[in-house]
Amino acid sequence: MYANLELYIDGRFVGKDAARAGEAVTDPATGQTIAELPHAGEVEVDEALAASKRAFASWSIASPLERSSILRKAAQIMRDRLDHLCNVMTLEQGKPLVEARSEWTHAIEIFEWCAEEGRRVYGRTIRSRFPSTEHIVMQVPVGPCAVFTPWNFPALCPARKISAALAAGCTVIVRASSETPGCAVEIMRALHEAGLPAGCAQLLFGPASQLSEQLILAPEIAKISFTGSTPIGKHLMGLAAKGAKRTTMELGGNAPVLVFGDCDYDAAIATLSGAKFRNAGQVCVSPARFFVHESLAERFARDMADYAAGLRLGSGLEADTGMGPLANARRVDAMEEFIADAHAKGGTVLTGGKREGNAGHFFRPTVVSGLPTDAMLFRDECFGPILPVMPFSTLDEAIELANNVDAGLAGYAFTRDLGTARQLMNRIETGMLGINTMAVSTPEAPFGGVGESGHGSEGGTEGLQAYLDTKLVSLAS
Ligand code: NAD
Repeated sequence: MYANLELYIDGRFVGKDAARAGEAVTDPATGQTIAELPHAGEVEVDEALAASKRAFASWSIASPLERSSILRKAAQIMRDRLDHLCNVMTLEQGKPLVEARSEWTHAIEIFEWCAEEGRRVYGRTIRSRFPSTEHIVMQVPVGPCAVFTPWNFPALCPARKISAALAAGCTVIVRASSETPGCAVEIMRALHEAGLPAGCAQLLFGPASQLSEQLILAPEIAKISFTGSTPIGKHLMGLAAKGAKRTTMELGGNAPVLVFGDCDYDAAIATLSGAKFRNAGQVCVSPARFFVHESLAERFARDMADYAAGLRLGSGLEADTGMGPLANARRVDAMEEFIADAHAKGGTVLTGGKREGNAGHFFRPTVVSGLPTDAMLFRDECFGPILPVMPFSTLDEAIELANNVDAGLAGYAFTRDLGTARQLMNRIETGMLGINTMAVSTPEAPFGGVGESGHGSEGGTEGLQAYLDTKLVSLAS
């Protein structure tokens, strides 16, 4: 039912026998080991670097149509084995199967979108001020890329980076999370079967700090893309700076949600309750800090608490599971820290607030009210199923509360007032803003943050631009 875990280097799958001993992968719903993951050593990383450089020489000048056709084929292969892919994801990451299906579908659609968009990479010509001269502006692939993906979206995060890099004509080495390796392996299998030339995409697992340092400092690598926490992102930017390398950084969020007194209340509750507990809150664009107009705040907290108390916790493989386990034991410990701080700061836990069961990493969906602004839940990214609610009275106060953190990935607001919406568009300091919707992540739209949430976009035309350099040719005859 689970994946056969292997590295993918220079067009070959490398299993336990050939690679170094690695680590156990566990099912977060049970804590049981489900597979052994091989690690790459320095030698394998060097092999991958050399292959990436070799492959770039031909892939970067392959026709966009050829690249597109391989990406499309890979997408179709993944579609054909969707049931298996969903099982792999739920087993290693914990999210319910219905969410796994939605993530895989999104990942496949990104492959399809990049396959098409890669055919539309255009340049331009500029009439020169000099006689008999043209300036030609070209968009050329950056070079071999090293990309690092986390455990919360084990298919979507690799898909975004791999498909955009390949569509732009770059080669790519992926270091995927060792905690959720199976989905990245499955993507490599699809690319391999679709006929991707050796070395164009490769997959490594192993100690994060060792691999990232070797890859980022390697002269072969031209660009780095990372999704993960802000502290690690800053560290990797430091390494990239040594070689003056381009970076795309998708770091933590801490999304504010502003619920105004004039909103469609039932729609807001329905949308936000589903979104908050999706993937047990382990989503960088998850609604995190809830500011609700004082006329609605108490009712909102109560309704959310009723919803949370009614969610069935269980293995994501069971059909009636509303929320799965957290992805690892660290997240459960982190939730307990947030709750201890909430108690210390005088908050009221309306529902949840504790772990559940003796096996797996389950934490009850939680709603907390009565906290001051310096509580951890309003300061740090919780990245879990805890929903804090605070009342506000004026638009200015709501905007100030929303902008009161260093992160700036997503933000959300619910209002029927166009004037309010306009104020928010201009004054909320995030890379993405959903007004009466949570739909900020689609294949065709740019996805990215500002401030401590990082820089650069994935998705949309901007996502491809991240893998392209602008080159000027001045041609005189
Ligand atoms: P962490 O900071 O240890 O790791 C975050 C991610 O970076 C993981 O995927 C990890 O494998 C990777 N990583 C760690 N050290 C690395 C290194 N030296 N080089 C390359 N990659 C490295 O934290 P964690 O416990 O795994 O996750 C907790 C926090 O991370 C969350 O609170 C959240 O803020 C953040 N996070 C964000 C996202 C996102 O989608 N932006 C995803 C996962 C985690």
